[in-house]
Amino acid sequence: MTDVAKRGGAPVPAGWTYAPAPESTDIVRLQERYGLYVGGEWLETKEHFTTVAPRDESPLAEVAQASAKDVKNAVAVARDASAGWAALPGSERAKYLFRIARILAERSREFAVLESLNGGKPIKESRDVDLPLAAAHFFYYAGWADKLEYAFPNRTPKPLGVAGQIIPWNFPLLMLAWKIAPALAAGNTVVLKPAETTPLTALLFCDVVRQAELPPGVVNIVTGDGRTGAALVDADVDKIAFTGSTEVGKAIQRRLAGTGKKLTLELGGKAANIVFDDCALDQAVEGIVNGIYFNQGHVCCAGSRLFVQESIYEPVVDKLKKRMATLRVGDPLDKNTDVGAINSRMQLEKIEELVAAGKDEGAEIYQPPCVLPERGYWFAPTVFTNVAQSYRIAQEEIFGPVLSVLTFRTPEEAVEKANNTPYGLSAGVWTEKGSRILWMAERLRAGVVWANTFNRFDPTSPFGGYKESGFGREGGLHGMEPYVELT
Ligand code: NDP
Repeated sequence: MTDVAKRGGAPVPAGWTYAPAPESTDIVRLQERYGLYVGGEWLETKEHFTTVAPRDESPLAEVAQASAKDVKNAVAVARDASAGWAALPGSERAKYLFRIARILAERSREFAVLESLNGGKPIKESRDVDLPLAAAHFFYYAGWADKLEYAFPNRTPKPLGVAGQIIPWNFPLLMLAWKIAPALAAGNTVVLKPAETTPLTALLFCDVVRQAELPPGVVNIVTGDGRTGAALVDADVDKIAFTGSTEVGKAIQRRLAGTGKKLTLELGGKAANIVFDDCALDQAVEGIVNGIYFNQGHVCCAGSRLFVQESIYEPVVDKLKKRMATLRVGDPLDKNTDVGAINSRMQLEKIEELVAAGKDEGAEIYQPPCVLPERGYWFAPTVFTNVAQSYRIAQEEIFGPVLSVLTFRTPEEAVEKANNTPYGLSAGVWTEKGSRILWMAERLRAGVVWANTFNRFDPTSPFGGYKESGFGREGGLHGMEPYVELT
């Protein structure tokens, strides 16, 4: 009999430890101080801020804080470059995008290490998810650049001009790729602002732009805090593409009302992951874990509300807790780590506040025993049971490794409860019945519905929300449309 069998079928023997397998950071060459990347050059600014590694709060580099004047200048430079870029044949623009995709693939280890260092996500996720997908987005949109008239039959697609793009800290390079690739393929130039806490891979991307010999001014990166984002919204851009919180998204929408600037918003979510009693249970438990603990739950489409059919509630929760006990929390740069560091102190405090609210409201908390590092920002994988729909942990986006479990009896009840949220970004359904999947997908008010899987992404597949999760789609042909004017 094996050790595992003797211990009553626990997934791994108790006390199982892995030897540390840290990825070396030698491949990353950081500068002490970064300026703004505008017109193919590095420009100095008056103010700077320090960006840190969330795993131990160690400072990594000084980054420029762009003022409204700096942003205005970047947009003017992008405007100057836009006529030349738009006039290039699509096949020429495609060449640059293919080059960028290839360089990203070639330098993927360097980018993956930097992404984990600056953002806190496990290296195996940066390496196996963020980087391949970022390169795939450039490959995919490179393919459309010379086929725009086929993409929009009987219409004449024209670029908009300059796109202002504002991205969050949860998938820094991937969100950059989602935004820049379709914009460039359609013939626009861009000014992109990365999140304050994770600017480094966007700054390294400037080196890719240089290596690919992109004409100066086509891609411009301005770093800074929320004020820089607000200045970009107010600048002379033709379109704003924003991914981030619903609160800031709403503020931007108010700001742009009546200006004629185009807008797409990809905002928060509180996805329902719905498990029926006829599903493949172990597979579903893996999907639940992936749905909420992937990237520490810093995922807008995270399956943060788990709906379990009442008849299988006990086995699901039991298996889930056992599986959670095997998750390794720790150094993002260790190849064995499953759950890395929380992105920032501010985000950690927000998670702690909502978890305290869950306890106060009467939910039952479970966290597997795990030793968290002393320095840095950490939160143990958490599950709440006994959750009522009215609790804040069932309503608000926690954006951390925290799952709320609720139950249902019938498919109708599952739909009703799943849709009981201001958000509508994604959902998951676990059942062996194809007809039930289709029945559910028709009724769930969510931009993406995964069936017997979760958190699957592909550049060909559109992604975006309903209700307070925003509007507009990214990915696929749908992701090209917001970057063209059709006549
Ligand atoms: P924000 O919405 O504040 O940040 C997203 C981006 O917008 C960042 O680049 C940010 O800059 C910028 N920004 C901030 N204020 C403004 C403004 N007034 N005008 C224009 N741009 C602005 O998200 P947070 O980082 O503060 O996270 C807060 C919560 O938002 C999270 O807890 C989570 O619930 C949700 N969130 C959702 C995301 C999603 O993918 N849907 C992603 C990130 C967060 P800066 O970083 O410099 O402040």
